[in-house]
Amino acid sequence: MRIAIRTGMLYDGTDAPPRSNVTLVVDDGRIAEIAGNAERAVADRTYEAASVVPGLINCHVHLEVNGEPDIQTFYLIRTPTERTLDAARHARLALEAGVTTVRDLGGSESNAIALRDAVARGEHPGPTIVAAGRAICMTGGHGFFLGREADGPWDVRKAVREQRKAGATCIKLVATGGVLTKGAVPGQDQLGEEEMRAAIVEAATHGMRVAAHAIGTSGIKNALRAGVTSVEHGHLLDDEAIELFQSRDAYLVPTLAAVWRIYENIAGGAQPEYVVRKATEIYQHAGENIRKAYRAGVKIAGGSDAGTPYNRHEDYAYEVELMSTVLGMSPQQALTAATATAAQLIGVDAGVLAVGRPADLLLLAGDAGSDVRALREPRVVVKGGAIAHERP
Ligand SMILES: [Zn+2]
Repeated sequence: MRIAIRTGMLYDGTDAPPRSNVTLVVDDGRIAEIAGNAERAVADRTYEAASVVPGLINCHVHLEVNGEPDIQTFYLIRTPTERTLDAARHARLALEAGVTTVRDLGGSESNAIALRDAVARGEHPGPTIVAAGRAICMTGGHGFFLGREADGPWDVRKAVREQRKAGATCIKLVATGGVLTKGAVPGQDQLGEEEMRAAIVEAATHGMRVAAHAIGTSGIKNALRAGVTSVEHGHLLDDEAIELFQSRDAYLVPTLAAVWRIYENIAGGAQPEYVVRKATEIYQHAGENIRKAYRAGVKIAGGSDAGTPYNRHEDYAYEVELMSTVLGMSPQQALTAATATAAQLIGVDAGVLAVGRPADLLLLAGDAGSDVRALREPRVVVKGGAIAHERP
């Protein structure tokens, strides 16, 4: 199908100046032309939009869950079959909200992997999925109820091999405690530097990138010294960590929405006390710390930790808003973090709108470059050159 889109503004996903009054022609899955509006494009369908942006890329999601207030208990009572159906539904919701690519950083079974393949075959609607399989954590570590517990360098290497065998194409390590696991302390180290280095060596052998969950200061630095591609959360980073991000050329995925959504929903009373307590503590420091890293030039890639309490897959636009309001990014810079930079981190051919590139893009009713809230409820979602969703 050949689609012509006349748009007031075109943001290509990078920091390049936007173009105004252009027509994009999509053909055979890719962007065939970008031309001035005066030229008449021949197409099967023609659309108009206030602005066009690349489909959003969420570098940190958990497809099996979607905002349940008590994730640890939810995992205990939900059956594997229910989780499969849940993951499929959440993938569809994300796509309809304009998220055309996600990186799933941990589930209890291989749901995200199976869904990745079903989406790729065209059997189920959803974003392009990059999947880590099960997160690798120490025995009793953060997320143990859905992760692969491993201790010592060789066991951790074996755990990496298991994820690869199951079909994962990237790896998630747990370097510190976390908010949603009872008894886990976010500031404390979990997998050690030596264990993470072993995992990274093994993953690199198979061409897999490694992301580390790290909230506490020391664990963030352990993960960076071990050589991770991205630190997830990073909320309690310090100046030395900022230097390590730069010297190792690592990415930071700040997942602000994960903290903000917990904090905003305390009054509901449905979240466990330990979740509220830990998230409130992190909330006091996260904005300032991540803003400092951003100003120092650390590469920020968009990821929301979608699935965590009140932090829904179809609400990724909120993370983009927070990157703008909390970190001080311009709307276009926040969009770049959630598109081109995100694509670089996870290694997918997406996130940039240019002739010859895949046509994953959103038609918006407002100008996302002047108000990032225009990303909410895209009018039309195009994925792989086809209309994936159209709002009546
Ligand atoms: Zn996560």
